[in-house]
Amino acid sequence: MTAHLIDGNDLSRKIRAEVAHRTAALKARGVEPKLHIILVGEDPASQVYTKHKVKDSTETGLQATLETCPADLSEGALLDRIRALNADPLVHGILVQLPLPKHMDTQKVIETISPAKDVDGFHVASAGALMVGQPGFWPCTPYGCMKMLESIGYDLRGKHAVVIGRSNIVGKPMALMLLQKNATVTICHSATADLAALTRQADVIVAAVGKRNVLTADMVKPGAVVIDVGMNRNDEGKLCGDVDFDGVRQVAGWITPVPGGVGPMTRAMLLVNTLEAAERANA
Ligand code: NAP
Repeated sequence: MTAHLIDGNDLSRKIRAEVAHRTAALKARGVEPKLHIILVGEDPASQVYTKHKVKDSTETGLQATLETCPADLSEGALLDRIRALNADPLVHGILVQLPLPKHMDTQKVIETISPAKDVDGFHVASAGALMVGQPGFWPCTPYGCMKMLESIGYDLRGKHAVVIGRSNIVGKPMALMLLQKNATVTICHSATADLAALTRQADVIVAAVGKRNVLTADMVKPGAVVIDVGMNRNDEGKLCGDVDFDGVRQVAGWITPVPGGVGPMTRAMLLVNTLEAAERANA
């Protein structure tokens, strides 16, 4: 068997087109959906990511501002800036690019963002809303993974989903989203005793670890859906995921590639969240 590919580039293009369409409708009502991004310091990867976020936004008709601040900005000054943006009715989404410099308390910074503008979905109120099944902003990466499952018409009811990784931004919200769709969910982590014994039982596997070849063909049930969130570099410096793609695709039913899988979906879901923030503010 060779697995079907879930093409994140293709799906994200469709989602962006939908965002562009809804953005145009909002603009026709006089609302300009706007994302405000704050970048503190000069981390090269963060500079690239924030540029992409601005480009993605403007391409879909959303307004986006990138505010850069020096690495030695005080935490108090950043919090004051966020509070000012919270109070600005023309700003719908606020995103503080992570990681922040070490002298800042990341959680405190995130908690200062208004939950109504928390388009990254990292605020404790957003996490709580997901937990109890109320409307809120879902973190973009697991949200994108759910869209990938939806795109293949996969019914999660009664299926066993195994999530490898338990971070607050990927693994835990992923597990809650799968649970909300009536999957039976197992969460694995670095202290899981026999990972392969669990993944072999899974109908759906989401790998979100950050280590190459965490999931190999012998760990996958034939026909399973495999979603690879990981972003790593192989020996040649090429981007790769957590999954041994060439091996696992011989066993799985569906698989996401890296690159061209979850990455573009994460970018697309930020646009969806920003648009939704503007729609909700103007409902
Ligand atoms: P993280 O915070 O470092 O979490 C990694 C998780 O993997 C932890 O829960 C850890 O367990 C677990 N883990 C580590 N080694 C393991 C092992 N051998 N077996 C089972 N579990 C193990 O990372 P993250 O932020 O969730 O990100 C995970 C990966 O996804 C990274 O490669 C990141 O770059 C990538 N990512 C990609 C996107 C995208 O858009 N494509 C977005 C976000 C993240 P413990 O909790 O026990 O330490």
